[in-house]
Amino acid sequence: MAAEFSENLRSSARRFDTVLIANRGEIALRVQRACRELGLKTVAICSEADRDAPYGETADSFLCIGPANAAKSYLNKDAILLAAQLTGAGAIHPGYGFLSESAAFSEAIEAAGVVFIGPDASAIATMGDKIAAKRAMLAAGVPCVPGPETELPDDRAIVEKTAQEIGYPVIIKAAGGGGGRGMRVVPEAGALHEAVALTRQEASKAFGSPSLYMEKFLQHPRHIEIQVLCDIHGDAVWLGHRDCSMQRRHQKVVEEAPAPGISPGLIGPVGLACVEACRQIGYRGVGTFEFLYENGEFYFIEMNTRLQVEHPVTEMTSGIDIVHAQIHVAQGIPLALRQNDIGCSGHSFECRINAEDPESFLPSAGTITALALPEGPGIRVDTHIRAGYRVSPYYDSLIAKLITHAPTREEAMAKMREALDRTKLEGISTNLPFLRALFDDEQFARGETDIHYLEKWLKQRRAA
Ligand code: ADP
Repeated sequence: MAAEFSENLRSSARRFDTVLIANRGEIALRVQRACRELGLKTVAICSEADRDAPYGETADSFLCIGPANAAKSYLNKDAILLAAQLTGAGAIHPGYGFLSESAAFSEAIEAAGVVFIGPDASAIATMGDKIAAKRAMLAAGVPCVPGPETELPDDRAIVEKTAQEIGYPVIIKAAGGGGGRGMRVVPEAGALHEAVALTRQEASKAFGSPSLYMEKFLQHPRHIEIQVLCDIHGDAVWLGHRDCSMQRRHQKVVEEAPAPGISPGLIGPVGLACVEACRQIGYRGVGTFEFLYENGEFYFIEMNTRLQVEHPVTEMTSGIDIVHAQIHVAQGIPLALRQNDIGCSGHSFECRINAEDPESFLPSAGTITALALPEGPGIRVDTHIRAGYRVSPYYDSLIAKLITHAPTREEAMAKMREALDRTKLEGISTNLPFLRALFDDEQFARGETDIHYLEKWLKQRRAA
């Protein structure tokens, strides 16, 4: 009885009726819609560069919190908390990027009595330190990339021995690294010490900690990830898997669910190990376990403790609204879903439409003069843009996500080709021509790609 009482108390303290969305762009609108569908009031915020954002018009309150420079607006913890207090918001949804993986932000707002729609500070901090994350994963039985789950010491003999034991090539990674930075591949012994010294320097400068670790460098892996959802009462489920191997400079360009050619028997135990890891670390909210997959084996690389850009492909195949679920668990509502209720129906693709030159990939800012977006069964567009919208040069170049869903992978791909053809956007450059060409590629159509495929494909196209 006592346990039940304290659980109820814990849940009721987390109830809220107004959510401040601490983000911009398509995800600000996506989250706002989910809140409205759940009967919640919304507060939109913006920087001076985003004053004409469409989601400002539909929010219950709209506040400008600072200048265009993100450090003084979207990353300004105090300004965002003040905005929540001024508008009576009981919760803050951080979206992705910006403050979504800041343990300090989660801690500060919860200490002020505002619910953070995401994990608590300690879970974010554990997963933000890649060595601590690897240790937690191994303890829960999640398969990891071969290599010690300890910091690389400053001792040349031990560094050499570690590399020999793992076997070349190895990769040196910063424990606090992120965004594809702070990593160096070492092909053979002669390059080892220089690589360690350079990565250590970079790690201290970029991430404020010289802590490094070493692991096996996998040569032709695919990027496969598992979506989890956990409540505050110790229940957790996984919602399926995605393949995000199509990357340029470690940035995902196209994602799909489910990952092609992976049998439920192979991935099932990995999904359950992720769920077990969530229970062990007391994780709450949504999260993603990222794996490299090679020769039939999965190797954990990191966990993202937030909603991801590519969450729609899992929504399409699972039928679950991940943002609704995320808000419910943040409110302390126990998970109604059981693992056996979760299925995977059909196949889904997502293309990230970026405001950038399709050849040089340099960002392209300016006013969208004309816009036509595709619609129809199995087509979803997540975007905040409209004709007349000015794409600002200050932030990420993602302007829209085009998502398709169909019974089979081939049909979802054909639907994407058609949807890309029907998308017309004038006034700025976008990567649409590049995406159209990619969906005509036969090897991609066969699902025979790895994380290097897109870069190689681009190189060949340039040479041709
Ligand atoms: P970040 O947090 O910077 O995104 P990750 O650990 O997720 O760093 O790695 C980013 C990318 O680097 C991976 O998606 C993969 O392409 C590559 N990578 C990381 N570790 C390895 C490895 N052990 N072997 C091969 N490639 C790797």
